[in-house]
Order: sequence, then C-alpha cells, then structure tokens
Amino acid sequence: MKFPWFHSPFYLFKHRVTVLSNFDTLGVTRIFQLALERMEYKEPTPIQSAAIPPILAGKDLLGLAQTGTGKTAAFAVPLLQRLHESRFRAAPRGVRALILSPTRELAEQTTKNVKAYCGRLKMYVGSAVGGVPIVTQQRALERGLDVLVATPGRLLDLHKRGKVHFDELEVFVLDEADQMLDMGFIAELEEIAYLLPKKRQTLLFSATMPSEIAKLAQRYLHKPERIDVTPPTATADKADQLIAHVESTQKLELLKSILAQEDCRKALIFTLTKRGAVWLGKELSALELPSAVLQGDMNQMARNTTLQAFTAGRVRYLVATDVAARGIDISDITHVINWDMPNVAENYVHRIGRTARAGASGTAISFCTPQERGMLQQIQSLIKQKIPEMEGFTFFPSDQEPKSIRKFNGQSKKAGASPKKKSTARPDAQAKQASKPKSKAKPFVRRQSEANKSSSAPSSGGTGGYLKRKPASSD
Ligand code: AMP
Repeated sequence: MKFPWFHSPFYLFKHRVTVLSNFDTLGVTRIFQLALERMEYKEPTPIQSAAIPPILAGKDLLGLAQTGTGKTAAFAVPLLQRLHESRFRAAPRGVRALILSPTRELAEQTTKNVKAYCGRLKMYVGSAVGGVPIVTQQRALERGLDVLVATPGRLLDLHKRGKVHFDELEVFVLDEADQMLDMGFIAELEEIAYLLPKKRQTLLFSATMPSEIAKLAQRYLHKPERIDVTPPTATADKADQLIAHVESTQKLELLKSILAQEDCRKALIFTLTKRGAVWLGKELSALELPSAVLQGDMNQMARNTTLQAFTAGRVRYLVATDVAARGIDISDITHVINWDMPNVAENYVHRIGRTARAGASGTAISFCTPQERGMLQQIQSLIKQKIPEMEGFTFFPSDQEPKSIRKFNGQSKKAGASPKKKSTARPDAQAKQASKPKSKAKPFVRRQSEANKSSSAPSSGGTGGYLKRKPASSD
C-alpha cells in the first residue's frame, strides 16, 4: 500500500482529518498534498509559494527561475489541480496541458515528476520526445492526454502526422525558454504557439531574461504575474569554484589527478562538442575509470541508461555536452569539471549548478586555455566575482593578466552591464573576441598555438570549437 492507512484519501475524507501543511495555505487540495507528502516535500520552496496561488487563480505567469528550485512542482501541481477540478476529459488525440521542454532529458524528468504529483488520481500524462519510437507516443495520444510533455521537434512531427491537436488546450507551459532559444528552436516555438488556441493560460519559465525572452513574454502572455526567485547570475552557493589555467595538452593529466582525489566521488565533466565528449570518454575508459558519455547523438534509450547508471553510482564520471547541463537532478555530484569552457556565459551557471545541490557542497573546476580567456572574463562579469585560481595552475601572474581582467578586478564600470549583451552574441563572434589577443596576452597565445600542434585532443574548447559549433538539437 502506498499510503499509510491514516493518510489514505478515503480515510481522511471519511473522518474529516485535516493534514496541515503550508501547501494547504497555498490552496493545494488534500489529494495533491498527500502526493507531495509521499515525495517528502514538507514545505513549499520559495518558487512554489510564489507561483502556486496565481496559477491556481488562472493567471499567466512569467517565472525567472532555474531547475533545482522546485520549479516543476511550482507549475505542475496547480496545473494538475485545475485540470482535475474542471473534470473535462481530453478528446482523442487532444491535449489539455502542454509542457514544452528544450531537451529530452528535461522532458523525461518532468514527465516522471508530473506523474508522481498526480498521486493516486487517474490522470493521463505522456511525453513526446525524439530518439524513441514515435508509434508508442501516437498510441498514448490516441485516447487524449491531460498533460503532454514534449520537445519541439517531435511535437511538430506528431502534429504534422495528425496524431495530436490542441483544440481543447487549456494550459501551455514553456519551460527553460532561454535554452530553447539558445538551441535555435525559435522557429519551432513560433510554429507551435501559432497552433495553440488564443484563449489559454500560459506559464513561461526561464533561467535568464535576455531581451528575446522579454519579447516572447510580451507576445505570448496576457497580464502575467511576474516572479523572480533566482537571480540569473547566482551560482550554486555551496560550490567552490576554481579556475585552472592550462594548455590543452595538460588537461588530461590534470583531470586524472582531480578524479583520483578522495573527495571526488561523482564528477560531471563538460565538453563543448559531441566529438570532444566521445574522445574524452574513450580516454577515461582506456584508463579503466568507471566513466560514460552523454551526448546528443545518442538515442534516448542509451541516454536514459547512462543517466540511470550515473545516478545509481555505477558510473562515477560522466562526460557530457551541455545537453546535460540543465534539468538533470542528481543530488550527489561532488565535482563539476569544465573540460572546455562553455560558449555562452550563462551555461557556466547552469553547469556548476549540477553540483552542491540540495544543501550538499561541491567543487566546480574550469579548465581555461589562453583562447578561452575571453569567455572566462564574460563569466566573471556575469557572476560578478573573480573565480580563484587553482594552486599550481596560475598561468597568468596578475601583472601579466590581460588588461581587461585587471580592470575587472578593480571593478570595471562595464562589469555587469556587458555580459547580457555579450551572452547573446553568436558563438563565432565570441570566439573571435576570445581569440583576439590583447597586447599583454600575446606570449600566452603564441604558447597555446604551439601546444595545439602537439595536442591529440579534439580542440572542442578552443577557437575551432566555437567556430565549428552548430546549434544543439533536442531530437
Ligand atoms: P526542480 O527544480 O523541479 O527540478 O526540483 C529540484 C528538486 O527538488 C527535485 O528533486 C524535487 O523533487 C525537489 N523538490 C521540489 N520541491 C520540493 C519541496 N517542496 N520539498 C522538497 N524537495 C522538493
């Protein structure tokens, strides 16, 4: 039996027992409170406190929040409650609520959570993501769904095949909107929004609020309630951040020594490109380390198996591209290692947010080649702090640092104002900027180009990586 007998909805209803919880004061009904209790959600998180009442009241919502804050329950619980209360049933191939996610991983995780929030209620929740057979999804849609969690590509595919319609759609949730744009999904997003009924409740969540998102919000939302629980620049409080200034030839040795440390029990290692991830995965396997790779070319089954193995601890070191940077909720990651710097400064915040979760502590170490100094500067400006250098990896004594960094240490006037603009620049533009040496940095740039000649690692983090990068895809 899933509930202790005295918590069963039937018992509580019959004996008019009141289970008091803060979710109660937010307007969450008992049946959902019980589901949350079973998941050991004792108190609402700040985003839940802020978002649940307006969503229950049927308002549109613009939420500035990241995963890890309890965002999923913040929108899913009131959404389910509203659907449950209205007691309609979805027509065949119809969907009552659509949650759009940028990546398959996030979509799968959201689906799992939404199903858990339903508790014992019979609600129909399904997912539509690429990389798995479409036929199963078509079959689930055949009878109609209360909630569909989807990635854009597969959703449009299903729509084009006439397997899903949105005639009765009541709620549209756009999750991780900024990543959706970063991944180049704007056209798909516009197409999907066009297919939805005008009269609907829309909830838009984004970890950052660049002007493109603000414009989307203006068009898609009607008099939205605005909530802001995580400043976009907030890095995980308990993560110790370090920078190791390295040449690309030094990265593998450094990584090995970090992984060999006793406190490095579970590490997520980020590369910029799929090719880089595969290469590094092979190197770690050759060293007989319990490692695996997670990258966008893998099919969904392989991705899920890998994530499960990492969650269960059978795999201790996971090499991943940014597809894994968001949404993945694994609580005991001790180290995040940026083998390559990200190509968008905000991704640094998302990457290192994978450690130091749920009150635990963690370490985030970023390998920075001379070509990536520009990106480091953007990141430091974004998070408004200088990341300390790892002992023994201080490549740039302060008197030789590029002028821009010294200016930042002295609190440049531009710090804080520039990142927003820079972060939306095209990766190749950033790369050009990063590779443009300031006069004082010249000796290092020369050293790096020499090092590159002898390096066997794919240069996913260098200028080549930026220039070659294509928009990621969820399908
Ligand atoms: P999310 O931001 O939705 O990905 O949630 C991050 C993690 O926090 C997930 O493991 C959730 O299960 C968990 N969580 C969400 N809300 C609560 C809560 N009120 N109490 C405890 N854990 C929660």
